[in-house]
Amino acid sequence: MTDLKNLHHWEVLAVACIDGRFIKRTIDWLSEQTGGVFDFRTEVGATKAIIDCESDRNSFCNVIETSLKLHSIKQLFLIDHIDCGAYGGSKEFENEDEEVQFHIKQLDKTAGIIAKKFPNIEIKKVFVGWNEIEFV
Ligand SMILES: [Zn+2]
Repeated sequence: MTDLKNLHHWEVLAVACIDGRFIKRTIDWLSEQTGGVFDFRTEVGATKAIIDCESDRNSFCNVIETSLKLHSIKQLFLIDHIDCGAYGGSKEFENEDEEVQFHIKQLDKTAGIIAKKFPNIEIKKVFVGWNEIEFV
């Protein structure tokens, strides 16, 4: 068991959408990936908030700065999900493959924005589907 009282540094900050259908699975998956300790932030639409909304982007960048300063994080997990209401949901796409490809582009775009400001953080892109969570 990790001695949480004396633990101050860890590897990962994750950002995911607020959508309650995916939170528990995402948290469980993150726990498996990280050994159970990580910083976690939600934004409406995850990548959408960071790309489209300057105040959300600035606020998220403040979170990154704080995570770096307090916890010395090394990796940022950007997490989008299927049927995201902020993007209009699955109905906006012809099929699931098109939807996944769209999110991969948004994740790439977001990674580019963040990497410019934080070149030393390793960025990992993640997509939460109905059945699987995977790096993309
Ligand atoms: Zn969403």
